[in-house]
Amino acid sequence: MPKHQTKFCEKWLDQKDGNGHIVRWWCKADAKDENAGYCKLCFKAINCGNRGVQQILQHATGEKHKQTACVRFSQEVKHLAPVAVEGTSNPRSADNGATSSTTFLVPKSHVDEVQVSLCIYFFICLFLHFKQHLAVTRHL
Ligand SMILES: [Zn+2]
Repeated sequence: MPKHQTKFCEKWLDQKDGNGHIVRWWCKADAKDENAGYCKLCFKAINCGNRGVQQILQHATGEKHKQTACVRFSQEVKHLAPVAVEGTSNPRSADNGATSSTTFLVPKSHVDEVQVSLCIYFFICLFLHFKQHLAVTRHL
């Protein structure tokens, strides 16, 4: 074993990993081992004694980590859409207002609502089609 192990470095946390995520989002220094980082998503220590930050970044390429990280980071952004609110009684009407001074995060984005509407529309079409089909067969 080499004597000089690379110690975990806080500066690495500001790097971007291969998934486009900032290392700080999922990694911190391991409390028990100064030659390791700790993945907050996988609850796993990542040894960095040999190749330093490369070992940390390599952890991010792991299939399990990628899955967890992508769900955690991309969907969170999608579901927390900034909504602009002016002093109106109906916040939804201010969705496109660019001049507002206040923004806050809502758990549901407009995109989600559109997707839900599309799903409902699709099922209604399917239902109507099916009903029509039944009506036709009944006439025969
Ligand atoms: Zn991980």
